[in-house]
Amino acid sequence: MIKIEVNKKMISVERGETILSALKNNGIKVPTLCSMSELSPTGACRMCVVEVEGYDNLVPACSFRVEEWMKIRTHSARVLNARKTNVELLLSNHPDDCLYCERNGNCELQKLSEDLNVRNRTIQGQKCNFKLDTSSKGIVRDPAKCILCGRCVRVCEEIVGVAAFDFERRGEQLRIATALSEPLAFSSCIECGMCVISCPTGALIDHTQFQEIDTSLDDPEIIVAIQYTPEVVVSIAEEFGFRPGTELKGILNSALRKIGFDYIFETSCGGDVYVMEQAAELATRLKRSEKIPMITSRCAAWVNYVEAFRPELMSNLVPVRSPHQITGKLIKTWFTSKLKTKKHRIHSVLITNCTAAKQEATRPDYYTDHTQDVDFVLTTREMARLIRLNGIDFQELEPEPADGPFHAVSSAGKLLATCGGEAEATLRTVYREMNKKELQDARLSKLRGHRDVKEVTIPSQKGEIRVAAVSGLKSALSLLDEVVSGKRHYDMIEVMVCKDGCINGGGQPIPPSQPAVKARTRNIYEMDKNESVKSAHKNKAALKIYEELARSPGSDESRELFLASFEHKKVLK
Ligand code: SF4
Ligand code: SF4
Repeated sequence: MIKIEVNKKMISVERGETILSALKNNGIKVPTLCSMSELSPTGACRMCVVEVEGYDNLVPACSFRVEEWMKIRTHSARVLNARKTNVELLLSNHPDDCLYCERNGNCELQKLSEDLNVRNRTIQGQKCNFKLDTSSKGIVRDPAKCILCGRCVRVCEEIVGVAAFDFERRGEQLRIATALSEPLAFSSCIECGMCVISCPTGALIDHTQFQEIDTSLDDPEIIVAIQYTPEVVVSIAEEFGFRPGTELKGILNSALRKIGFDYIFETSCGGDVYVMEQAAELATRLKRSEKIPMITSRCAAWVNYVEAFRPELMSNLVPVRSPHQITGKLIKTWFTSKLKTKKHRIHSVLITNCTAAKQEATRPDYYTDHTQDVDFVLTTREMARLIRLNGIDFQELEPEPADGPFHAVSSAGKLLATCGGEAEATLRTVYREMNKKELQDARLSKLRGHRDVKEVTIPSQKGEIRVAAVSGLKSALSLLDEVVSGKRHYDMIEVMVCKDGCINGGGQPIPPSQPAVKARTRNIYEMDKNESVKSAHKNKAALKIYEELARSPGSDESRELFLASFEHKKVLK
């Protein structure tokens, strides 16, 4: 540690760290638009400039390292004036349509203008006339609102590992674009939403379907069923000022009923069906020693990646729909017949943590009688907007139960929210399947926590089962390289594109927060601890689905209902 002087006080900082991180660690707030903790610094926005004695010019705190002799001023008149001018420059060509912007009230540029007391337009720039890109099912790009901070470029390249965006042209013409400036839907984007959650403005937003959902809710002939994934019930709290991680399932049920949804289901029951299908697939592959390692396919962004970049892995993927697509199929078939109504009278909506689920819903496999099994998809943050739009006071609601027949009476389907949870839930069931007895300690702690790669080996009568769970595409790809080169061997690999899994998905509340992700994860583990039924194969509601409709996991009947197929896609790289 060394000492430096900041605003006339001595503080201890770590030798070699950036000024920005030293200030942050000492509770001194300096604004920034381009910097994010996991990304390399660029100094692009110059919002974090500070005065360092001995330097003629202001220096960007994100890209200068601390030195022992430094005397820094973070909020001098000169610094504040420079920051204000930088914001005014950004606003000079901005569309100024804050009232109509999806990020109104949650925009970092807006907040900075307010904090820096920007009250007049002092610089007149030429307004951008870029067109809105609505080609992608999950994400809308509004380049006119882009402030060229480069976060999306770096997140997509450095964290996701896809590099769908880059800077293009120079000077006043500088802009963010996909390869050959093609619309997002034709680029290499896998719709993970990490850029959306990182963008400080409304330049990257959810592709909303509010209008369509409203039309369905208003139509007396249409029955609207809605399902929500377990990630949603532990993260929607943050949108309404509750403590991060607070589980608000009952309150959410109550809000959805008030909005007018006719049936409210938890996706976790479909999660248990998914786990049973996956366990049956793993048991079969182990028996036949084929297509090992089995690689999970629940993450829609991961499937998009494999289809575009690693088609040779398609045969290793589990050919089973995701839990919400299983639930969607069951709503359009089993539930419709229980209601004795026609399929076209039921519209099904999904609330999820994931932007890629919007595109997944349109996959050709996921239709029944020419209509999508999941008609509309809302992210967690969109759901919060819909609740506010309907004038519902979330804080005042009394909890209510969800509807049958998709009761989630096992915690296995809920564990799928976390990275490692899918492997844990699957092992509980495959162990029972292969050994005809229950796994003694169902809590597989080696698969828990926030490391990128986790692994566990469990004994089985027919040899060991070696499993890895990996989150973050970059980590997944390096692990797979080691598997391909023979350095590592696994029977099953769980892959989640988003770090820490779905709980930290691209459709979750903005801004992203690591403490919030940890709190959400803790609560999912808490649910598992408190639930007496911990295995998918013990969920009576899921077993009833097999009894009435699908015979047994892995049967021809269940495959016909829940099958997923994969196709090599050509994309611009
Ligand atoms: S789209 Fe958003 S994240 Fe990307 S450069 Fe523009 S403002 Fe920054
Ligand atoms: S959605 Fe994901 S893959 Fe697509 S541009 Fe954004 S970060 Fe990259």
